[in-house]
Amino acid sequence: MTLPPLRDVIARHGLSASKALGQNFLFDEQLLDRIAAIPGDLNGKAVLEIGPGPGGLTRALLRAGARVTAIERDARCLPALAELDAAFPGKLRVIEGDALAIDHNDLMGEPYAVVANLPYNVGTELFTRWLSGESWPPRWTSLTLMFQQEVAKRICAAPGSSAYGRLSILAQWRSTAKLAMKVHRSAFTPPPKVMSAIVHIAPADSPPGVSADVLSRVTQAAFGQRRKMLRQSLKSLPGAIDALERLEIDPARRAETLSIDEFVQIARELG
Ligand code: SAM
Repeated sequence: MTLPPLRDVIARHGLSASKALGQNFLFDEQLLDRIAAIPGDLNGKAVLEIGPGPGGLTRALLRAGARVTAIERDARCLPALAELDAAFPGKLRVIEGDALAIDHNDLMGEPYAVVANLPYNVGTELFTRWLSGESWPPRWTSLTLMFQQEVAKRICAAPGSSAYGRLSILAQWRSTAKLAMKVHRSAFTPPPKVMSAIVHIAPADSPPGVSADVLSRVTQAAFGQRRKMLRQSLKSLPGAIDALERLEIDPARRAETLSIDEFVQIARELG
């Protein structure tokens, strides 16, 4: 099946990139195929794509054999996506709407891989939602997400680095997170100001006896004042300083020196 070049699709449907919707499109089909390969074999699998735009990544996912549900906010993109539907009959379902306002589990009704190239603010908000909550494992089987490179590094950072923080712990305490691919700004039309990178996240076992909500409050307090010692930054959390003592964690340490396991232990102590 030969599809028209993406640049022609954009021109034919008058899809000038909207800044308000954070639209930076990818046209390089080889690059798109490499991105679609990051989640592993998608043949016959259900994939939720957020923000398909004119459908570059969508076609790559369909070529990989996925059954794609795509949520797109910009109605201007729907005719271009309808052409893809015609080229891959029965394999693409397009939902017009705001991905932040839709219950993804209800929509999918079966386990699914998530793939998205999203504007920064929407991506971070969805990322936080996907990785939060007490119920684990989630219904999604993996997240393959494009971020600004600096955010991708924060998500995958190890303790001790300046990038290590709340996002790293959220992404790694019960999942594996890896920086799968760097994407040069020139790959996008129009090119954004900064470099991008794709993060791949897969759920892992959840450590027993820990509330995601409590852990989030601990990391919020600790990294809210990341230059301060824990005895200062955790002061506002009832019981936290006693917990440090019981766990023999030196309260003179700073948040970025604590391992993820140490944060998990503190959250467990606080119940
Ligand atoms: N996936 C395409 C690509 O890689 O070329 C387009 C990527 S563009 C960075 C982001 C897309 O997300 C745009 O098509 C935009 O309209 C869409 N979008 C922005 N906010 C959205 C939201 N809240 N829900 C669904 N789609 C959204």
